[in-house]
Amino acid sequence: MDYFNYNKGRLFAEQVSVEEIADQVGTPVYIYSRATFKDHLRKIQQAYSQLETMVCYSVKACGNIHILRFMAEAGSGFDIVSGGELYRVLQVGGDPAKVVFAGVGKTDTEILEALDAGIGYFNIESEAELENLIRLAKGRSKRPKVALRVNPDIEYKTHAFLTTGIRETKFGVDIERAVKVFADYGKDPAVNICALHVHLGTGGKKIDPYVGAVKKILPLIERLRSEGHTVEALDLGGGYGADYESDTVPSAAQYAEGIVPLLKDKGLKLILEPGKSVCANAGIMLTQVLYVKRGGNKKFVITDAGMNDLIRPALYDAFHFIWPARVAEKFVPRQRVSDSRPDGAEVVDIVGPICEGADFFAKDRALPPVERGDLLAVFAAGAYGFSMSSNYNARGRAAEVLVDGRTSSVIRRRETYDDLVAPEK
Ligand SMILES: *Cc1c(COP(=O)(O)O)cnc(C)c1O
Repeated sequence: MDYFNYNKGRLFAEQVSVEEIADQVGTPVYIYSRATFKDHLRKIQQAYSQLETMVCYSVKACGNIHILRFMAEAGSGFDIVSGGELYRVLQVGGDPAKVVFAGVGKTDTEILEALDAGIGYFNIESEAELENLIRLAKGRSKRPKVALRVNPDIEYKTHAFLTTGIRETKFGVDIERAVKVFADYGKDPAVNICALHVHLGTGGKKIDPYVGAVKKILPLIERLRSEGHTVEALDLGGGYGADYESDTVPSAAQYAEGIVPLLKDKGLKLILEPGKSVCANAGIMLTQVLYVKRGGNKKFVITDAGMNDLIRPALYDAFHFIWPARVAEKFVPRQRVSDSRPDGAEVVDIVGPICEGADFFAKDRALPPVERGDLLAVFAAGAYGFSMSSNYNARGRAAEVLVDGRTSSVIRRRETYDDLVAPEK
């Protein structure tokens, strides 16, 4: 699952004590394990090795350039959703041909930047967007490749904000419209529509929706081909599960077992856009306990990290396993699960310092007794943790540290007060 483990009651990221990192860098801090990133990427690459596969790591999940650099070196392409993410990829020498660009609201500037960079595929979400791409591509004398985003109307059990593959969403076009889009634009000299894109959502824990989506898309591909169109690639998007609790989601190999047999010998390149399945378990957020207080029957543990640092619990009611970075041997967690209640644990709310009811990380959660100054690790915080953080309450964003074996390096320094006001001067 990852390389964050307790040794004699002290939490380590690979071979580095997280307490030492806190001593050097302060808190809150995101700590990433390079080996975990690379492990997850390699498992995906291996699981699909029977097909021609392009793995495009989703930059928005965790896009620090130092992370993108070693991911590119390990053969990853990138799924981007903005010009800023393209800039990040280009900064580290990522191969533009292995970049896919999704998003319902690409601006002209972003499209031109992507055309100039020569990205692999524009994932197009509507006819209006396609028309605009055609106009801009003509001006640049480029013929970009287009993957049409189709939504296969597959039910995908997750938080309501996180499903994107049903009919009534702003994402993509339905299957009948897809046929028409290919008929209208399939021969267009300014763009090369030659692929289909599906992204069902995120946060699911099952393989079935992917298998169901492929089964719905394959007849569409056959139909398009029979009408004389080229379909060279199928982009299955992201949304593969991550272990927020120990061993609760299918492995890359298990997803592949469902998907690969359907796509073998179909003459299709497979594109995958994993985000959290690569990076969620590769990061923790370390925060310090500021105060412990009682309110009515409740005990609150107030931390120096807030919802501006990690918004997933507030936004999605997301579960993160939270545990002290140093514990007595009897409290070393065997498994990171929501119902872990070891003898001697207290039930508490773990909350941030921000004046919002939503500023919490866990409610009614069992935790070994902690006091002011103790460090808490928020596990599986690598995905949509730092990347969704903000300066709300004029709080500088946290530092990011990358661990590689015995060494750790600051890959993003903590923001200062000067950083906060610099754009206003
Ligand atoms: C966000 C996103 C992803 C990554 O999703 P995960 O759940 O992190 O795997 C992939 N593709 C697209 C189009 C996305 O918007």
